[in-house]
Amino acid sequence: MDVIVVGGGPVGLMTAALLDAAGIQVEVYERTSEPVRQSRGSTMHPRTLEVLAMLDFGGGRRVSDVLLAQGKQVPRTHYATLPDLLDYRELDTPFPFVLMISQWRTEQILADLLRARAVPVHYGTDVTEVVPAADEVRVCVGDTWHSAPYLVGADGAHSVVRKAAGIDFTGTAPDKVGFVADVRLAEPVEQAVHHWNQDAGFASLVPLTQTITRVFGVKAADVGLTAEEVRRRQTVPLTLEELRKSLTAICGRDYGVHSPSWMSKSSNTGRHAVTYRAGRVLLAGDAGHVHLPAGGQGLNVGLQDATNLAWKLAAEVHGWAPARLITGEAGYNAERLPVAEQLVANTQAQDVLMHAFSPGGAALRDLFSGFIAQGGEVARYLAGVLSGLAVTYRRPDGAHELVGTRAPDLALTSDTLLREVRPDRFLLVDFTPDASLAGLASARVEVRTAPPPTGPRRTAWKDVRAALIRPDGYIAHAASSADRLTEAIRAWTEPDHRTASGMTVR
Ligand SMILES: Cc1cc2nc3c(=O)[nH]c(=O)nc-3n(C[C@H](O)[C@H](O)[C@H](O)COP(=O)(O)OP(=O)(O)OC[C@H]3O[C@@H](n4cnc5c(N)ncnc54)[C@H](O)[C@@H]3O)c2cc1C
Repeated sequence: MDVIVVGGGPVGLMTAALLDAAGIQVEVYERTSEPVRQSRGSTMHPRTLEVLAMLDFGGGRRVSDVLLAQGKQVPRTHYATLPDLLDYRELDTPFPFVLMISQWRTEQILADLLRARAVPVHYGTDVTEVVPAADEVRVCVGDTWHSAPYLVGADGAHSVVRKAAGIDFTGTAPDKVGFVADVRLAEPVEQAVHHWNQDAGFASLVPLTQTITRVFGVKAADVGLTAEEVRRRQTVPLTLEELRKSLTAICGRDYGVHSPSWMSKSSNTGRHAVTYRAGRVLLAGDAGHVHLPAGGQGLNVGLQDATNLAWKLAAEVHGWAPARLITGEAGYNAERLPVAEQLVANTQAQDVLMHAFSPGGAALRDLFSGFIAQGGEVARYLAGVLSGLAVTYRRPDGAHELVGTRAPDLALTSDTLLREVRPDRFLLVDFTPDASLAGLASARVEVRTAPPPTGPRRTAWKDVRAALIRPDGYIAHAASSADRLTEAIRAWTEPDHRTASGMTVR
């Protein structure tokens, strides 16, 4: 094996699928004996669907196609459960909506893909020890040791990998406990309903499917706790009776909740790893960040972590990754750690908006909801953050303004851009009238022609004649001429060479 992935949750499965698609030998160790049917992360945002459109499911379908067939498309979504909603319909994406789909279905689809590709996912294997060394990483499962040159810890919030690699998990301790349950309602709600009650707390009811509704909230009595008290209360399982009582106290009625398919308690711990990489060990998903489940972001950001990680690690394993992709300015840690910091900060902001049970809190919510209702800059900013479409990576000084942004789904001569991006190679989009860039194709660069992009959304593309798209769909290079294009391609796709004097050259 080239890579061992610890954890067969959505992020571990996605990492394995992308590594496999990039030609890497990978296997997954998962503690549970079979896939768990929990609906946890049920909101899939547009950028997640975009990256899943890049992953081939076989039979001409993409993973996104399979998900779309099983989920429900909702064009508007909430921020901090505020009554005025963010409208995704105007977003520049083929997926201008959130897809409501239970997390277990997403996991099942990824597991099906891995099975079809004969990638081993070992269920019922608990990794108890991880020993990183200079040239490999060893893991202990039962009485047996396994090793690989690299290891990805996608083993969730309490990651043994993170601890074994000595990576600190920095942030804030929890001070409140929430309740969450997927239930049926004797008195169904057509759309999301939110209740704030100054004395009793907050509760939301959000339909997930025709029959299942997610109910979540926080009792006022479960706020302002010590971390120890939070832990103690979380260990006491939520009961249907307690849920009924909480809803009655907060909403004045219990909506006839019954037949729960999942019940749990959440907290507002906000932490992220101080680094995503220690030697040959990398972290992804909840192993790298935990936060209040607000705005449906954990799963989405985790899947984006996997997308950023996989092609770079594949390049490293294949031996062609330049240093910038390993530990440099375009490396996994350099690009994704800031996203985790922003994720924790924005869920903390939502925590305050959602859980301030005072007249001041109500006024703050009214004010903020009003900003969203205006549909201006604030709404656009928040939609960009939640949808994942506004995430950008570093743009070097003097580079084209598109560099570091995600490539939109441009029409190419052959297909659309998202369906041409592949996890194992760069895509060079040739906008020249005479297809003059064809000669730059190589094992690591596929060239596709395209008509010059036009229209109000494409003003930044007006003069672009060549665009180099990374395997994760981000723009590595864009220019109005082919000058220095060969140099740019080499800088991304060839290892650095050291001269006798120790200087690094390309
Ligand atoms: C109530 C709730 C609602 C949520 N809603 C949303 C939402 O709407 N949208 C969204 O994007 N996110 C949401 N999330 C967050 C989302 O569920 C998580 O971010 C997501 O599950 C993270 O995936 P992961 O693969 O990183 O970790 P996990 O799903 O935790 O998977 C880790 C896996 O590793 C395994 N494992 C752990 N230790 C070991 C070991 N030592 N050896 C072998 N295997 C091991 C575990 O069994 C597990 O299967 C929600 C979370 C909660 C709790």
